[in-house]
Amino acid sequence: MSKEKFKVLRGLRDLLPEEVEKMNYVKSVIRELFTLYGYKEIITPTLESYDLFEAKAGEELRHRMYTFKDLGNRKVALRPEITPSVARFYINHMLSKPKPVRLGYISNCFRYDEPQYGRYREFWQGGFELIGSPNPEADVEILSIADMLMRRLGFSDYYLKLNHIGILKGILISENVSEKTQNTVLGLFDKLRYEEAIKILESNGVTKKCIDDIKELINLKGQQIELIIRNVEEIVNKYPISLEALSNLKNIIKIIELAELKIPIRLDLGFARGLEYYTGIIFECFTSKMKLSVGGGGRYDNLIETFGGPHVPAVGYAPGIDRIVLAIEEEGINLPIDRKKKKVIIIPISQNAIPNAFKVASKFREAQFITEIDVARKGLKKMLSYASSCGFNYAIIIGETELKNEKITLKNLERGAQYTITVEEAINIVRDDI
Ligand code: AMP
Repeated sequence: MSKEKFKVLRGLRDLLPEEVEKMNYVKSVIRELFTLYGYKEIITPTLESYDLFEAKAGEELRHRMYTFKDLGNRKVALRPEITPSVARFYINHMLSKPKPVRLGYISNCFRYDEPQYGRYREFWQGGFELIGSPNPEADVEILSIADMLMRRLGFSDYYLKLNHIGILKGILISENVSEKTQNTVLGLFDKLRYEEAIKILESNGVTKKCIDDIKELINLKGQQIELIIRNVEEIVNKYPISLEALSNLKNIIKIIELAELKIPIRLDLGFARGLEYYTGIIFECFTSKMKLSVGGGGRYDNLIETFGGPHVPAVGYAPGIDRIVLAIEEEGINLPIDRKKKKVIIIPISQNAIPNAFKVASKFREAQFITEIDVARKGLKKMLSYASSCGFNYAIIIGETELKNEKITLKNLERGAQYTITVEEAINIVRDDI
């Protein structure tokens, strides 16, 4: 049979040990933040009812879901994101808990995206969902978590692209644009297809004056926050809903400034996100070198209610773990992955020594050394060269003589020295060797 008979499916990946090691490091920093900010980690199923995601996913994502009928004839979907699952989870398990509730997750997601650099059909997201507060300080907490994650991972050159979806929506609502058309238009904004979006608005009877305001608004972007806000104010002062949204954005920015959080924010008033459930701030995180976002989030005050729960406002952030790993590689960040642990290989050179090799291995593992037993029986010479090439620090050789004397032979693979000693003496030598 050809070894090429089975291949990984297009857009899906086998992850090699070195890749998993980096992903695990990123996951460990996300989990550290769960602990430090008080988020309780949960696990939800990979497979959910199709309707859960269909309701508010947005046109784009709706077409990119892996969906099928299960054997019970239910229409199901592999989760394309986790926020709807968390909203469902909250309704199913947490309604009686005092608010706010902070939930975290690390999960794989599936989207039938066109595969390219940084875009996979299975990828990993972390997540922080802060449920139960409508207040700007909740938004600030989520933004500061996104910022802190980047800092802790060692990034120095990154920014958060920020907008408040209520500003654009407020203008559209004032012009009586239906919710469906609003979603279509914002979906096009998300893909930077502004001209098409404007045409749709024109054909829906939106006034020229209003379209000019939108055109002016979506060009406002950058780091000069105060100036941009002033310009936005001038444009939207005749749209009350937009003004309310702007005031919310201003309150969030004010807390960030007064708290001296130093979050690198770039406002972008033309920025929209594909998901339809956002009601307040929306943001994405970018590094200087990477074109794709390494994380995204926003406020979703109506999602829990849409799923049949009470009105519970919420805001969240989902870092994309695969893209963070790519960004770490692009920036050349050295991760503090612990490679200091000593590695020991135990080579029984007679059959009688095999059980003893297991006993010795247990003692070395108890002492926290990475310990492997030779199970290949290739002979001492070959095993020693295998051990050196695999980065082992020590080999322990056990033959008939060692068994008889209740000793082992410890060989330092870097320096070549070897001693026949007791297991306890060997552990002390390996421990003391720095
Ligand atoms: P979203 O759920 O679209 O807000 O995405 C949140 C984050 O997940 C993005 O910023 C990306 O980092 C990551 N992400 C989304 N789609 C993909 C994908 N197809 N492949 C890899 N990462 C993705």
